[in-house]
Amino acid sequence: MGDAKEGEEEWPRCVGCGRRVKTLYMQYSPGNIRLMKCDTCKAVADPYIECEFMIILIDLILHKTRAYRHLLFNKLRIYSSLDKRFSIAARYREVLLAVIISSYFKLFLMAMMVWEFPSSVIFFVEISVLSSNTVALRVVTEFSKAHCFGVCFGAHAARYLTERWLLGAP
Ligand SMILES: [Zn+2]
Repeated sequence: MGDAKEGEEEWPRCVGCGRRVKTLYMQYSPGNIRLMKCDTCKAVADPYIECEFMIILIDLILHKTRAYRHLLFNKLRIYSSLDKRFSIAARYREVLLAVIISSYFKLFLMAMMVWEFPSSVIFFVEISVLSSNTVALRVVTEFSKAHCFGVCFGAHAARYLTERWLLGAP
């Protein structure tokens, strides 16, 4: 991508198609903004700008790719360096951040320290983390869903086996 515009790697992303857009909104006066449309898909680039956090959280729980793009690229500004110009260390950092952030379901385990839950809740939380990691990895890497699921499933299986066999966890 030798014809990339100056600073384009830091541009926000369209939550619909994932392409970079120069700006997400134009501000005419304080509190008076106009959301910009994506040049590629012709839809509003990031409608989550006007949404409350609870709406975004619900869409994250529902594993909507658009919500993950909004959170990772436009809010937290982890840049997906799909261009060849960026180093492979930077790439690890993005994937690691996406996996850590998408493991938010682990916070539900904190409630288990206060209230009693059946042990099946742990299984539900682990499955939710796996599926959330899969969506976040797909958003950051733009690989296929099956590929991302395979990578995340392998990582979770390795962690599980390490805990069970090597560390002797119950
Ligand atoms: Zn778009």
